Order: sequence, then C-alpha cells, then structure tokens
Amino acid sequence: MKLLEDRILADGEVIGGKILKVSNFLNHQIDVAFLDELALEWKHRFEGVKITKILTIESSGIAIGASLARVFGVPLVFAKKHQTSNVNEDVYSAKVFSFTHDQYYNVVVSKKYISKGDCVLLADDFLANGNALKGLIEICKSAGAALCGAACAIEKGFQNGGDELRKAGLKVESLAIIDKMDSNGIEFRKEV
Ligand code: 5GP
Repeated sequence: MKLLEDRILADGEVIGGKILKVSNFLNHQIDVAFLDELALEWKHRFEGVKITKILTIESSGIAIGASLARVFGVPLVFAKKHQTSNVNEDVYSAKVFSFTHDQYYNVVVSKKYISKGDCVLLADDFLANGNALKGLIEICKSAGAALCGAACAIEKGFQNGGDELRKAGLKVESLAIIDKMDSNGIEFRKEV
C-alpha cells in the first residue's frame, strides 16, 4: 500500500539492518487518523469475512487493533504479557519469543473474551518471524475459535514468519512488505 510505504520512507529509521523504527506514527507517537486509513484498506481486503473479534498483543498492536475494531464494528481483545508461567485456569495462555527483547514471555487472554463461535482477525504492527502471531493462534485454538486471518501493518519479508503462516493456510494481509533494508535504504515487495 503506497500510503504506508511512503510514510515508512519519510519517517522510518533502520537500526542495524534488522529493526525498523517507526516511533513517530506507530510505536510511540501514534497517528490515529493514519491508522484509521490503514484499517479501511484491511476492511476492503477482508470484505465478506464475518469477523467477530480483533485479537492483538499489548502494547504495540493495540492502536492498530483499535482502528480495525472501529471499521469492522467488533470488539478488540489484547493478549496481556505475563511475567511468570504461573497462569490460572480462567485464561488461555501461550509462550511467545520476543524478537525485539530476545526473550520468552507468556501472553494471556481471559476465557471470557475469546470463545468457540468467534471468528478472529489477528492484528499486529510488525510481522517478522511470526512468533507473536503464532502465540495468538495457539490461544484461538485453545478457545476453539476460528481464524479469519491476520492484518499486519509492516512485514519484514526477509524474515520467514509471513511466508510460513501463509503456507499453513492463514490469510495474512500485510500493507507493506520489506524485502531488504539497510543504511542505503528500504526495498518494498511489489504489488502489496
Ligand atoms: P515476530 O513475533 O513476528 O518475530 O515479531 C513481531 C513482533 O516484534 C511485533 O509485535 C513487533 O512489536 C516486534 N517487531 C519485530 N520486528 C520489529 C521491527 O523491525 N521494529 C519494531 N518496532 N518492532 C518489531
């Protein structure tokens, strides 16, 4: 999506060839009107899919999740990060490896908010190795909920999460896919 690609080129900062910082519109300061425009594009891409919940992980997925929830007219649920693996029976939980913090953490979702009969659209700001989405998928499976797909703003196509999840049959819609990035610039995949 050209709108997002142009914004990444204008405001993104590549750190050490592996991390893209987009703190001035997505990860620290949030351009809510801009995210609402992205959400309209996802609305179009998931046209006709009977989504009942948006599911993301705190904290960086929440803003995108809120814009998606608004356009689809459904609740947003976010998985909470939990320090210990000592979780109780009122929650679904999954262990997730954090790409940015290089460590494992648990995420939990109350059993009250995802259930059998839900059709869940997963959401996140970035898709890299796919561990965050895999954790959310595990939670949906534990709940017996159906997966409608995944909406990610920025996919780093040089990491394998997106391709792996698509091969497994998930409809993954990333609005910008980066095939290469370094100090010389950013290359996007065509026709995204
Ligand atoms: P994955 O679980 O797919 O490996 O990584 C996705 C998660 O890591 C996202 O929730 C996002 O918060 C974080 N992440 C991965 N790569 C980047 C990046 O290049 N920049 C930022 N800001 N976050 C990233």
